[in-house]
Amino acid sequence: MAIRSLKLRNYRAFTACHFQGKILVNLGNRRPLWVLLPLCLLVFVGCLGLEPSPAQSRPAADLIITNAKIWTVDKSLPTAHAVAVLADRIVAVGSNGGVDSWRGPHTHVIDAGGKLLLPGFNDAHVHFVSGGMQLDNVQLNDAMTPQEFARRIGVRAKVTPKGEWIVGGNWDETKWNPPNMPTKELIDALTPDTPVFVSRYDGHMGLANSLALRLAGITAETPDPPGGTIVRDAQGDATGALKDAATTYIDRVIPPLTHEQRLKIVKRALAYAASVGVTSAQHLVASYEDIAVYSELLEGSELTTRIYAAPSITHVDDLAKLGIGHAFGGPYLRVGALKAFADGSLGSGTAFFYEPFLNQGNNRGLLSDEMHPISLMRDRYMKADAAGLQICTHAIGDEGISTILDLYAEVVQAHGETDRRLRIEHAQHMAAKDFERFAQLHVIASVQPYHAIDDGRFAESHIGHDRASRTYAFRTFLDHGVRLAFGTDWEVAPLAPMLTIYAAVTRATLDGKNPGGWFPQQKLAVAEAVEAYTMGSAYAEFQENEKGSITAGKLADMVLLSEDIFSIPPEKIREVRVLKTLVGGKLVFDAAEARH
Ligand SMILES: [Zn+2]
Repeated sequence: MAIRSLKLRNYRAFTACHFQGKILVNLGNRRPLWVLLPLCLLVFVGCLGLEPSPAQSRPAADLIITNAKIWTVDKSLPTAHAVAVLADRIVAVGSNGGVDSWRGPHTHVIDAGGKLLLPGFNDAHVHFVSGGMQLDNVQLNDAMTPQEFARRIGVRAKVTPKGEWIVGGNWDETKWNPPNMPTKELIDALTPDTPVFVSRYDGHMGLANSLALRLAGITAETPDPPGGTIVRDAQGDATGALKDAATTYIDRVIPPLTHEQRLKIVKRALAYAASVGVTSAQHLVASYEDIAVYSELLEGSELTTRIYAAPSITHVDDLAKLGIGHAFGGPYLRVGALKAFADGSLGSGTAFFYEPFLNQGNNRGLLSDEMHPISLMRDRYMKADAAGLQICTHAIGDEGISTILDLYAEVVQAHGETDRRLRIEHAQHMAAKDFERFAQLHVIASVQPYHAIDDGRFAESHIGHDRASRTYAFRTFLDHGVRLAFGTDWEVAPLAPMLTIYAAVTRATLDGKNPGGWFPQQKLAVAEAVEAYTMGSAYAEFQENEKGSITAGKLADMVLLSEDIFSIPPEKIREVRVLKTLVGGKLVFDAAEARH
């Protein structure tokens, strides 16, 4: 590529210089950077053993993007036309003429042709490895009938080597007519020798075939585990559908990924993330094996998405022992958050509510196995917080969310006020009383707008109008001063920033039944959605001073789009494509090259 990147020899020198720059920046926030930057840059030039060119008193930029429509997400300079990058940092933002003074003989210049340049998207909630895996798995989400669902599994079974499982799939029976849960009978005859455990798209249920049930030792006598359900027919036999903690019976017998497989999957996921403009990803429930792969890729300079990895809170003792605290690491790889589960999901009937679902008898959902008993979670929170680790808890039903807020309040009470950035993931169905508490406890709402237009298809039939009115209540959160961080929950939903922004701005459900927006009072403006997806997510990982806006001094993570999403009709936003993705000033995706 034409973009010059620093050679390893110089990188160490730069790091030393950069470190000084950091101290200067930290001394006095953003403005003093401008005053002190030339000093740091001169040190930098000295480190590289280069002479500044006589015509200028500072090194030239490595990259200039000019003639762009820049939305910076920086309130001190909301719009601009050009940006200059030196090594992995933005050094200037402004007019074409102003930034041009950074041009030198070796500066690579990208003419943006008037297109929209945004900070790179930071997905605050992904399952990066299962997402990458899903790219190669059987695709069931758009199987619109049970027959098509079965056919695709049958086709996959024919090409699956003996002993390997068919997994993933993301099926969604609500798209079928009638929307009946699939059972093992649907696929057994097509998969006599291939174990199958295909997941529902929300990740809270899976369907096993008879062979898989046999391998897992699940019979009519097997009890439901705490926080899980083995779905049974009228005779009491397992139908193959397993909910939440019951899926662990199967997980135990699926052979784990090898390191090589995982490496390949992550590389695939990185390339895909770059192609959709995701420059940072917060991987929730990352395994140690996942982190080992990231670490290996980091070592080889192959990470093209910045990762914040949050292992399960069941590992709190390990992380506490390391003494690392939140957001420990470097610009490409950080750890120090923990992911906990309060409850299940709306679609699986396992989100935990104060009142029953409207269409499921007395069922009001389940607290997760991590909440049995609740004191187990309290103890883990206390340990995590005492160690300075960040807590991110999946909570969807109103009572699930309320219970977590109670526990968070206890943590604050026990250890005092500090900048801990507690998070609730999904924060889907809020009790009216809890918006205020959310704000008071400074809890971040880490939300996935795509879920709103997806669940919006059926939410009212499950929980009624009143509860649905506080579902993915983005506007109400902002009105209460709650910080939003946007994400997708990939592989549960598509890793697609444009679709995510479209969802937040239109709230047009996927079934086309709410073109004016489902609970339209909760719609966000495009600028609010972009902010939640950049600065909001950066804040949610303690990185708002490093990324999240196009600001001098920050990491040069940016994305160039095919259309101006601020001026096109909102319903067109989902069709907008990514032209270029830059991470640390390096071009990691270029649509012009991808076409060849
Ligand atoms: Zn998730």
